[in-house]
Amino acid sequence: MQTSIYTAILAPNASLMSGPGTNTIILGRADEDGALVIDPADAAPAHLDAIVREGERRGGIRKILLTHGHPDHTGGVIELRERLGGVPVYAFSQRATPMLDHEAPDGTTWRVGGDTLLAIHTPGHSFDHLCFLLEGAHILFAGDHISGITTNVIGDLLGYLNALKRLQSFEIAEIVPAHGPTIADAQAKIAEYIHHRLLREQQILFVMQQLGPGATIAQMVAQIYQDIDPKLHPVAAHSVEAHLVKLEQEGIVERQGEGWALKNA
Ligand SMILES: [Zn+2]
Repeated sequence: MQTSIYTAILAPNASLMSGPGTNTIILGRADEDGALVIDPADAAPAHLDAIVREGERRGGIRKILLTHGHPDHTGGVIELRERLGGVPVYAFSQRATPMLDHEAPDGTTWRVGGDTLLAIHTPGHSFDHLCFLLEGAHILFAGDHISGITTNVIGDLLGYLNALKRLQSFEIAEIVPAHGPTIADAQAKIAEYIHHRLLREQQILFVMQQLGPGATIAQMVAQIYQDIDPKLHPVAAHSVEAHLVKLEQEGIVERQGEGWALKNA
């Protein structure tokens, strides 16, 4: 029987933020490299059983990789490592992921399934975020850098846009996000993400012009996000703030009282 390149197992951790749940990825085939898992995500025994079983079919899990230190990705790591007899855990930063065994800087590679998996540092969603590119198959395991369901939460927007632009220089056929379905037209999606952010930035500048100096983030959110569920407004506020911080870094806006103002307006 032909084994697919990877298996995605949906973790039972659905929520407003993680949508249907986190996609736990298992890669590898029954050869000397064995298997590895990306983002165990949840410690539910049935989920760990499914990971271990799929790993055994692929030569046994030898490593655990983490896209970043958020709990809907690192859940189950300690339990899974113990069940597998102490296999090493790799992530970008000990500060974000205290349970790791080895830090994996940008450019780290692992052999798996006759291919090479490359760690690409993609800050933005979190400072420690890694995407993993299976180089021969051109499949990008994108974690929360690119989401299949909703717009993802970004802390450092300037870093995020730079990381997206950097992904444009890799050959990528398919994106497997941590949340939501696989994205087939990878480079079109990356270009759309960049475009979407720049469009949002234009909207913010427009609304600031209308509201005048001292406009608060809440006022801007109310204007820009009229069409979304108010439950998501805190997420939207976070996104607007990230844009304002980027524009501040670029010298386009400045803080004024409780709000923000266009510079030289
Ligand atoms: Zn996250």
